[in-house]
Amino acid sequence: MITLASNQRGEVACVGRERRQEGQPMGAELEHGAVVQSGRSHAQGQADRRRRGRGRADLHMHTTHSDGQPTVRQLLEYVVTRASLDVIAITDHDTIAGTLEAQTLLSRLSYDLEVIVGEEVSTRDGHLVGLFLKERVSPGMSAAETVSAIHAQGGLAFAPHPFLRARQRPGKPITMVGLGTLVAGLALDAVETINATPFLDGANRRAQQFNAEACRLPVLATSDGHIPAAVGKGFTTFPGVTAEDLFAAIKSGATAAHRQSYRRGELLAYLRFSRSFSSQVGGREG
Ligand SMILES: [Zn+2]
Ligand SMILES: [Zn+2]
Repeated sequence: MITLASNQRGEVACVGRERRQEGQPMGAELEHGAVVQSGRSHAQGQADRRRRGRGRADLHMHTTHSDGQPTVRQLLEYVVTRASLDVIAITDHDTIAGTLEAQTLLSRLSYDLEVIVGEEVSTRDGHLVGLFLKERVSPGMSAAETVSAIHAQGGLAFAPHPFLRARQRPGKPITMVGLGTLVAGLALDAVETINATPFLDGANRRAQQFNAEACRLPVLATSDGHIPAAVGKGFTTFPGVTAEDLFAAIKSGATAAHRQSYRRGELLAYLRFSRSFSSQVGGREG
């Protein structure tokens, strides 16, 4: 059962299903703490991580099934050759078609990668991501109803870019709207404290601070990638290397959030994509 909890000062705290008690480890945001082995192959990086027993995941990215640039196949090829990840979630807006296509492709190709079925759901209150889904979650519900719908099918729910409040344009889809302080009253399993989209440092700092003070939810870093080069710029580490290990790590709060910088060429590619998308639809979704 989900209940509201309050801390000693009487403030309402987050009510994730496996909320840690005061003093328990919460994971960490390591803004610049992770160095990806540049020049090393995906296979080498993966072998190293398996020896160390700590995997790497990026749990928020988009394909042509919503507002992303790469097809599912292009995205998978980038990940297995360049991004050095063990687990990803494809989280297109309001659809799981891309992530199901990825699973079909993986069953035919010999990629050493696990893909979690995910969806970035447009709730009435802002964006909310479901992971480990079995079926699509309908958009347009309240955030609380959406969290319940995700949990009802055995999934996990996290708040992406909670303190990003992009401008809403009449008649356009919700554009990168986070849940803000609503995060504190929802039965979330985790919160995205690093969204590696360029220029979100202020919103990320606010998410880290709010989580540390009011929520103490397990932390995730993601790329929210809309172009291949973005994928892996934000990543979550966890004990183990499989999707099942990741599920357990989120439930027990054993994740840590990391980011790596965009190179100049990658940043320019991102800005080019962002500009062309904005001119097409009047604002990038997030
Ligand atoms: Zn978003
Ligand atoms: Zn997104």
